[in-house]
Amino acid sequence: MSDEVDLANDAVQNRLDGAIAMQRAALHRQGTPECEDCGDDIPLDRRAVYPAATRCVACQGRRETLNRQGVRA
Ligand SMILES: [Zn+2]
Repeated sequence: MSDEVDLANDAVQNRLDGAIAMQRAALHRQGTPECEDCGDDIPLDRRAVYPAATRCVACQGRRETLNRQGVRA
C-alpha cells in the first residue's frame, strides 16, 4: 500500500516539477517585469509560483497589510 502511495506521490511531484520548469522557461522568455510599486525586478521564483504578480513580495505584503487596516494605498 505504501509503495503505491509513494509511486503516486512521485508521479504528482514529477508533474509539478515539469509544470514549474515550463512556467519558469516561459517567464524567462518574457523578460523580467518590474514591481509596480518599487520598480525592482519581480524575482523569477515569485513569478513561477504566481505568474500574475505585479508586485514584489515586500510590496505585496505591505499592500495587504494596509488593506487589512482599511487604508487605501
Ligand atoms: Zn516592490
